[in-house]
Amino acid sequence: MARILSTYLETILSQSYKQVYRVLRRRLSVSAKKYEVRVRFAPSPTGQLHLGGLRTALYNYLFAKSQNGKFILRLEDTDQSRLVPEAINSLEEILIWANIPPDESPRLGGPGGPYVQSERLQHYQKYAQILLQNGAAYKCFCSSKRLTWLRNDAIRRKETPKYDNRCRDLSSAKIEKLESGRTPSCIRFKLEPVNEPLQDLIYGPVACNTAEIEGDPVIFKSDGFPTYHLANVIDDHLMGITHVLRGVEWQISTPKHILLYKALGWEAPRFGHLPLILNKDGSKMSKRQRDVFVDYYRANGYFPLALLNFITSSGGGFEDQEHNTLYSLDDLVERFSLSHLKKNSCRLDILKLQQFNRQHLEQSIKNPTLLSRLVTELHNKLKTSYQTSLSGGVCEEYVSQVLMWSEGRVTSLQDLVLPEFSYLWVRPDHHFLQNLPPLTVSHVAVLEDMHELFTNGCDNFTKDATVKSLKSLGEKFGLKMPAIMKLVRMTVGGIKEGPPVGELLALLGREEVLWRISHALSILSKHQTST
Ligand code: GLU
Repeated sequence: MARILSTYLETILSQSYKQVYRVLRRRLSVSAKKYEVRVRFAPSPTGQLHLGGLRTALYNYLFAKSQNGKFILRLEDTDQSRLVPEAINSLEEILIWANIPPDESPRLGGPGGPYVQSERLQHYQKYAQILLQNGAAYKCFCSSKRLTWLRNDAIRRKETPKYDNRCRDLSSAKIEKLESGRTPSCIRFKLEPVNEPLQDLIYGPVACNTAEIEGDPVIFKSDGFPTYHLANVIDDHLMGITHVLRGVEWQISTPKHILLYKALGWEAPRFGHLPLILNKDGSKMSKRQRDVFVDYYRANGYFPLALLNFITSSGGGFEDQEHNTLYSLDDLVERFSLSHLKKNSCRLDILKLQQFNRQHLEQSIKNPTLLSRLVTELHNKLKTSYQTSLSGGVCEEYVSQVLMWSEGRVTSLQDLVLPEFSYLWVRPDHHFLQNLPPLTVSHVAVLEDMHELFTNGCDNFTKDATVKSLKSLGEKFGLKMPAIMKLVRMTVGGIKEGPPVGELLALLGREEVLWRISHALSILSKHQTST
């Protein structure tokens, strides 16, 4: 006994010790800092937010909040040809829906604004000129024809295409001549060899030999817009970004960015790259998959918290992470640490999301405030799916009873709107009556008696009481229980299979059950008279 007690105490103490340690670690790291942590999520508005984007936004949010810092949303729309105007609003809106709202953003504004790159062109022009003046960049007059030729030539020689830096050393006289002839030009940045590895917050040291693989990158296009590299670096600096957490596909660009910071005389933020997100089978996620977009999950009744746990359960980032626990957002923030982020690719298993969603639904149903929110949400979904055909005008009390009954049967609210549950909301079509099970006696006679029993007997119309009445009915007509149950299911619900009959009747309630039986009787009698 004493041993059990001491183990128990030890467990409690070690748990609370961990919590105290986490809080202290956070406090100390915050007070030791001279600056506030500022991170950003910087999507290009080329479409709806996908799971990869949500993952980046989420980890930035968790890092910011765990450090009492700021999470910023910036839209990178310098590639105007790929712009999708609706995405400008929807990206911010979906972060709000996911409960990871930014502190500064295009809508909210903030000290580093504006937060849309096309509104910040004067900054990019200014710094591009500075880079030209200090010799870190140069004007390139190569025509697209020449660049295509260079590319094709490299491919023909089975080499990686790269710009040959031809315009790096043009004389001032030559530049003047080309400019007076109005030859279009762009600005390129001189890539210098980097000797030290990139210290990635997630991957550790990463070798960067960018200058060996690539030619000098364009930083300012002839259309007057900067490219991603220049705009991204300038904005991160002007917005005071302290840490850049982004997808690993950008790791290749980071050495270029670090060189740009150097050339501008700025201190670079710290960089961490998040590994690839893959489908469960290890295949790449494609934007052609509908279920890659966050909006798909929103429309299909998934809870934001389930979605966030779905991502963190595969991406890591937490000490002592239990993979089946649905953590609250506060818990996720509290437990987050960059050092626990995984660096191997994350495979997303949709079954995990369903499990989290079911868990969240069950917890919400048990909480009266959340239950009433679910009722409103489900009611709205019903209005959209079944329009005016809601049987007898479904009331909130009924929706709430259905929700409590549905616990453990469904994964999301949306499931309750599926055709397989339509009997809960709409009266069955009379065509179902053709599927009544064959009986040795007339259906009408049995249903008439059933109507009578349910009207005057069966006092409280509970599950047990209705089953008891049905048993006596079976005995009276010499029918076996399975036959009676089939008859009830088909008459009342229009279904061959479904929940236990007693539950179905108790859920629909006496009044509705009687209406459905009378309706079936009126159709069956009409059918009898016409044959
Ligand atoms: N605009 C880039 C994107 O669409 C941002 C990359 C970064 O975070 O630096 O993902």
